[in-house]
Amino acid sequence: MDSQLTIYITLVSLTGIFNLFLSVYVFLRRNEIPGSLSFILYTLALTIYSFGYAFELASDTIWEVKLWNLIEYIGMPLSVPLGLMIILNYLKIKISRAATVALFVVPLITWLMVATNDYHNLFYKVFTFQEGMNSHTLKIEAGEWYIVFSIYTFCCWLAAVSLLFSRWKQTRKSYRLQLFTLICGQLMPMITGLLYLLGVTPTGIDPVPMGMCFSSGLFIWAILSTKMLTVVPIAKETIFDSMGEGVLVLDPAKRLIDYNQSVGQMIPSLNPSMIGRTLDQVWTEVTGEPFPFYHLPDGSVEELSWLSNSKQFYQVRSSTLRHRNGEQAGSLLMLINVTELKRLQNELEHQAFYDGLTHIFNRTQFIQRSREMLAASRMEKHPFTVVLFDIDLFKRVNDHLGHETGDRVLVHVVNTCRKLLSKETLFARYGGEEFVLSLPYTSLQEGKVIADRLRIAMEDEPLLTDKGAIVVTASFGVAEASGRLDDTLDTLLRKADEALYTSKRSGRNRVSLYSSTLEYSHS
Ligand code: GH3
Ligand code: MG
Ligand code: MG
Repeated sequence: MDSQLTIYITLVSLTGIFNLFLSVYVFLRRNEIPGSLSFILYTLALTIYSFGYAFELASDTIWEVKLWNLIEYIGMPLSVPLGLMIILNYLKIKISRAATVALFVVPLITWLMVATNDYHNLFYKVFTFQEGMNSHTLKIEAGEWYIVFSIYTFCCWLAAVSLLFSRWKQTRKSYRLQLFTLICGQLMPMITGLLYLLGVTPTGIDPVPMGMCFSSGLFIWAILSTKMLTVVPIAKETIFDSMGEGVLVLDPAKRLIDYNQSVGQMIPSLNPSMIGRTLDQVWTEVTGEPFPFYHLPDGSVEELSWLSNSKQFYQVRSSTLRHRNGEQAGSLLMLINVTELKRLQNELEHQAFYDGLTHIFNRTQFIQRSREMLAASRMEKHPFTVVLFDIDLFKRVNDHLGHETGDRVLVHVVNTCRKLLSKETLFARYGGEEFVLSLPYTSLQEGKVIADRLRIAMEDEPLLTDKGAIVVTASFGVAEASGRLDDTLDTLLRKADEALYTSKRSGRNRVSLYSSTLEYSHS
């Protein structure tokens, strides 16, 4: 046996040992390796192929060669679809059961063809020893089915490599090494196989096992060092994709590198082909406007909403990604849907500011805002007047027509008044059926005119119900701020209340003014 053949047999045997090791290794860790079955079967098929081939090479008689060749062909054809299935598994591409079975039809026929070749010569036209000077080489001529099987093999390898290449851009950077390994693992047997078919390799020596040996070594390295095929990267990917928050990954030049499924749902027009473009370009394309925050400092929080999705509000948080040496590797933009939170916040704000029934300001807001208005009017030395009014004999409405109708009357009164008031007027519900107005730039007499206008409007516009028209009137009290420092809002309101009381006492449905001489005037 020449030394070249010995080296060659050693290499082929090594491929067998590598594959057996991989097969056992993956079998022992099958629980943490998804899709482990196809990998175990693939490496077992390659083990059978390699050892069969090694024994074939070492055989002395044509009978032995044929026997080992037949054993070799149990493994080799099966390894082709199994290799493709590993890639499909890795890329999470599901194929039907029928398609899976169909993939194994050609390998099965191939084995039967090899086993019965002596009867039809469809696989090998010629399969004999060619006697040399002091050794013999195997002379092989391909038959029709040999060509069919070769085409099938190349198609499977090509499909696997194309699928891997097509995923390159979408694959997260940290997993590209694994993808590269898988591509090399698929390409090596393809290249060596092609060289063999082109007749570039030494006669009678099939270089494919060498390619396979290289691929197997690569797989061992990838599994042990980058945890390829184990759950770790899959788990990380799953977490990334199942997060409720949208995550955009940017490189230091603000180009989009990756995004998770949540962002895909928030912005349906976002697609993987946009990866590699700047955030501004991507944002303009998907929302019609550039990204609003050119520079988001680390940890800062901004609110975002875009035209095509204006009913939703998002909180944007940015955080810098760093390499181990501290150098900036890029940034993460986290999008959190805060629409519901914002709605609740608005609702709470509304509840805190406005009266739930009439939707005008409540007493607390009235006091707070009026204090400011009073202070401003004192500073700017312009008049400030307060009008307080209370619905007359309101208890009767409740007693005779029910509380619900009473509520409708209150809303009606507010609507009637609102129409007549200017934007500067602060109108609020002061108590049950008591209302208040703060009138800046308004003197006592001007306040009286406004109060009268409201009183008349109320009297003239009854509430129309199915129980009939309900006429409501109110009694008013008007007081003007004196400009003295000790004249606080509280004293002003007390004065208006005194005037209101005068209106009630004087027969209701009237306006009374508080005068500093403590004389009350009313209309
Ligand atoms: P007066 O002319 O002296 O003001 O007579 P009045 O009947 O209006 O007397 P009073 O101010 O004592 O009665 C106010 C009534 O208003 C008592 C209360 O049951 C009723 N009320 C207070 N808040 C509401 C409310 O939100 N809805 C309804 N329907 N009634 C209310
Ligand atoms: Mg009252
Ligand atoms: Mg009343």
